Amino acid sequence: MSEDLCAHDAYLRTCDAVVQEVREDGVVLDRTVCYARGGGQPGDTGTLRWEGGSCRVGEVLRSRQDGVTLHPVAEGTPPPAGSAVTVEIDWDRRYTFMRTHTALHALSGIVYTDYGARVTGGNMELGSARMDFELDGISQDFGHEVEAKLNARLGEDRPVRVSFLPREEALADPDLIRTKVSLIPPTVDPIRVIDIEDIDKQADGGTHVRSTGEVGSVRVVKTESKGKANKRMRIELDG
Ligand SMILES: [Zn+2]
Repeated sequence: MSEDLCAHDAYLRTCDAVVQEVREDGVVLDRTVCYARGGGQPGDTGTLRWEGGSCRVGEVLRSRQDGVTLHPVAEGTPPPAGSAVTVEIDWDRRYTFMRTHTALHALSGIVYTDYGARVTGGNMELGSARMDFELDGISQDFGHEVEAKLNARLGEDRPVRVSFLPREEALADPDLIRTKVSLIPPTVDPIRVIDIEDIDKQADGGTHVRSTGEVGSVRVVKTESKGKANKRMRIELDG
């Protein structure tokens, strides 16, 4: 397994690594700064450089066979197995996903706290995202109301903390129970937790900004019904 540096520090843009294996579907490294697609967040893209060459890396993902992190070669040829490489992520793209992801967690926290509705699904694109809630109804006015609350809370510049909780402790935490921490496979221990102070706390593998002020302001651009108890909100980052 490769060491997953972004789980501990989302602000690392580059690292040195050694090529463990070159597979048809991607390069396996002993460590990486890249986020592998998952939890609604797309994987990073970037560049590998080594003595005598470089290649572009397409969206990083986990192997379906054994879960290892794969760096697919999008342009150029892969580095030879055993070589030392420098990994660099496309930072602007990643940072936008960090802001988007933190905005989504804040949204889910506010909708739960103020309206008692849980999240039923969600997905992120670059600078925009959608989230579905088990609300009975939804309207444009509701979207505006939530948008105002969301921006007010983000503007408080609350810290976003990453921690690793022993599984037993996580399963006993009321905030984490709400977000169905019990559904995480039993082999996952400790459990990674993202805590946006006084706004939202949930088990999560994604990358986030370190304080809500970095998200900036957010617009709720669309509200729609996707069926009974499944109401969708689409948000966009301002800039
Ligand atoms: Zn998340």
